[in-house]
Amino acid sequence: MADQDDDRTLRTAIERLRVKPGSDLVLSKRATDDDFGMTKDEALERLAETRSRIDVLQQRLYAESRRSVLLVVQAMDAAGKDGTIRNVLTGLNPAGIRVASFKAPAGPEAQHDYLWRVHQVCPSRGEIVVFNRSHYEDVLVVRVKSFVPEDVWRRRYGHIRHFEELLGDEGTTVVKVFLHVSKDEQARRFQERLDDPEKRWKFRAGDLDDRALWSEFQSAYEDAINETSTADAPWYVVPADSNSRRNMAVGEILRATLERLDPQIPEPEAGLDGVKVV
Ligand code: AMP
Ligand code: MG
Repeated sequence: MADQDDDRTLRTAIERLRVKPGSDLVLSKRATDDDFGMTKDEALERLAETRSRIDVLQQRLYAESRRSVLLVVQAMDAAGKDGTIRNVLTGLNPAGIRVASFKAPAGPEAQHDYLWRVHQVCPSRGEIVVFNRSHYEDVLVVRVKSFVPEDVWRRRYGHIRHFEELLGDEGTTVVKVFLHVSKDEQARRFQERLDDPEKRWKFRAGDLDDRALWSEFQSAYEDAINETSTADAPWYVVPADSNSRRNMAVGEILRATLERLDPQIPEPEAGLDGVKVV
């Protein structure tokens, strides 16, 4: 009984991370360090259970082969996009899961509209795809660094809403997470990257330029999230100062998305009852 209560409490806490359509998200009012009342070990244990359940649901989604899931992961540098993806998806069947990462557009990507490269790597029926960065960069870094004029990036909110609506109508459930890290925690993690030879490759001098534009990025995130968190393609603002709770929370969001889809394994062929394999 206590377990069921805990489960409900956690689900409520996760649901509170969702940005309701029409609400006015202010990131400074959202926690970066919520522990969800769990110790690190409890969060790790919970994520392990959640992954087992995701594994079952993923197999069913694949077997059903009608619908798909797109999980978009966005964040400031060092908030833990890579670590979240690794920890939430580890051990799942690679046949039904794919990660697509988006860097600054180059070659043919830069010769097309900004959604061209994105649409191509959206999930096939039965697949779960995770975006490590996404089309949202085109209203985030592109806005903050003035790569295009304001009238151009402003129009994109509408494109993105319509694009995600199209995906939803055609069978792809879209869910989006913003890993919300504090500026202090980012400083700690940057320093760790610089000091650890195994991690230094992740650090680019340009990361400090982006850090200097922290408040501009936060405003761009607020606008992007407010403009595009819809009932069918919601944003969740996930506290990201603690890796274990962050991973746990993203696992919960993916699991809840799959539970709502309730994928069904196909009916077996008729006439298989009593068949003996000799
Ligand atoms: P990382 O994720 O650390 O490997 O860095 C990828 C870089 O690509 C980040 O600095 C992003 O801001 C940048 N990036 C991704 N998409 C775009 C885009 N559409 N326009 C400009 N820069 C982008
Ligand atoms: Mg980076």
